[in-house]
Amino acid sequence: MPIHSGSCHCGAVRFEVNADIDHVRACDCSICSKRRLLTFRVRRDALRLLTPWETMTVYKWGTRTAEDHFCRTCGMLPFRKPSRPTPEETAKGVTPFDGWAINVRCIETIDLATLPRVVVEGRRLSI
Ligand SMILES: [Zn+2]
Repeated sequence: MPIHSGSCHCGAVRFEVNADIDHVRACDCSICSKRRLLTFRVRRDALRLLTPWETMTVYKWGTRTAEDHFCRTCGMLPFRKPSRPTPEETAKGVTPFDGWAINVRCIETIDLATLPRVVVEGRRLSI
């Protein structure tokens, strides 16, 4: 599986991710739409942070089960942990995901123009 190197804007946060990135997810929830965030989901152990966790801060909102990790210096979001489904969402068939959503814009070797976009209707979820 390919290994991609990624970073925030200032370089204080650097990471590697094992992933065969063949699409990107575009979520329409309140925060992803403002960020124009494009992500690719990987297993928890596919992400290796090469810089200290202390270079980042975490933003939580809504159900407070998602973790948005930001560089403390430049404010870039290299990756996030998606929210856990609420019991109501689980009953509707939303499956839990325990990995990371990587911000594909933080991987410079990825050509976003060539990747299909999968639209995720996050606005319907509790987040
Ligand atoms: Zn930074």
